[in-house]
Amino acid sequence: MSIKNIFNKIDQFDKKYQKINKQYNCFTNNISDFGRKHIDDADGLLKGKLIAIKDNINIKDYPTTCSSKILDNHISLYNATVINRLINEKGIIVAKSNMDEFAMGSSTEYSSHGVVSNPRDVKKVAGGSSGGSAAAVACKAVDIALGSDTGGSVRQPAAFCGVYGLKPTYGKISRYGLTAFASSLDQIGIFANNTDDIANTLLSIGGLDANDSNTIDESIILNYNEKDITNLKIGFSKKLINELPSEMSKKYFNVINFLKDKDVSVENVDIDLLDLAIPTYYIIATAEASSNLSRFDGIRYGKRISSNNIEEIFSNTRSQLLGDEVKRRIMLGTYVLSSGYYDDYYNKALKVRNIITKSLIKHFLKFDALLLPTTPTTAFSKNEKKDNPLEMYLSDIYTIPMSLSGIPSMSIPIGNVDKLPLGMQICSNYSQENTIFLISKFLEDNFLKG
Ligand code: GLN
Repeated sequence: MSIKNIFNKIDQFDKKYQKINKQYNCFTNNISDFGRKHIDDADGLLKGKLIAIKDNINIKDYPTTCSSKILDNHISLYNATVINRLINEKGIIVAKSNMDEFAMGSSTEYSSHGVVSNPRDVKKVAGGSSGGSAAAVACKAVDIALGSDTGGSVRQPAAFCGVYGLKPTYGKISRYGLTAFASSLDQIGIFANNTDDIANTLLSIGGLDANDSNTIDESIILNYNEKDITNLKIGFSKKLINELPSEMSKKYFNVINFLKDKDVSVENVDIDLLDLAIPTYYIIATAEASSNLSRFDGIRYGKRISSNNIEEIFSNTRSQLLGDEVKRRIMLGTYVLSSGYYDDYYNKALKVRNIITKSLIKHFLKFDALLLPTTPTTAFSKNEKKDNPLEMYLSDIYTIPMSLSGIPSMSIPIGNVDKLPLGMQICSNYSQENTIFLISKFLEDNFLKG
């Protein structure tokens, strides 16, 4: 794409920014001036692609609010690794996107910037916590968006908005510059409207990073275009699909039958322990969050409520500027880590996490990939679950097991149910993103467009 065309594309983005944000509230900030600054005639994998960045990822000299009042005035001091890598591959960053406060939520209703509307039906939520990123891609304001996925926050909103959303293998993409929520689960993830954009973005931003010691030291090679899907063995759980509302299960069975018709090996497999995933996740994630969020105290970052002494600064700032859901998590996390309860809750949860992981990855001895629903329902209505945290937590029942075990998983759109998009998860063993892309691309080209 020529420089002139790229500038034109950004101009178009600027022109529609306000209208789009009025409709969907998907952005927290237009930063297309940042994108413009990095345009040159060099080539790159993401040349000419407009990109939105979830507002919990740092871009130097621009606000990172995490959709929290406590970071209302916070300006980032450095670029996240992913930002430098996007720029190197000539991606054009044009906006920060709306999210649930500190990435805690499943509907982007817990945001200091207000709720995000689902572009497929504005009465519905876009999902969360990366709802702004998903909506921005779904309404085609941008080509690609980054989000973060701790327990499903990329895959679930991708499913609700009818786009592709990848949570890579833990350690595949550097977390340096991502505001930490639950560090052993957090991963930056990618949204796009097709498989190739996801894969090229992973290739651009993934890989070893000296600033994140959890990153995996192996090169990323994209070879899914050279592979044959009929060499794969794919598993799916009849039982799980049958438990869903019948219109949803019908669609999943359509995909499975389609694959079988194309001579792909698809077999039933029992995926168990799903009932343990949510309680385990909410112990580990809140424990880590309570520790990670202690830095937001009115002294080190962001806003301060002035008070008489330091204790009061901490407590007034945190009480007044953090939202209810974030406070709920900090309290729960502090409780499960407190002496006397640590062994009963936190330590036990770590053991259960191990059991869940083993039981999930044992399937990859036999299968190359597993197909699962992404969510138990399609996009729900605004206000439907907002005041019922437990209901909200259940939205992630199918996405959390992959987060606990660190394996890669992607939600892909497979059509509509009652005019709302339905997502399907494809997951594979550690670092086998190519297998996911192969299946995704095959369904994109043959099932969706076919
Ligand atoms: N919805 C889950 C939660 O609220 C997952 C969030 C996420 O993946 N960031 O914790």
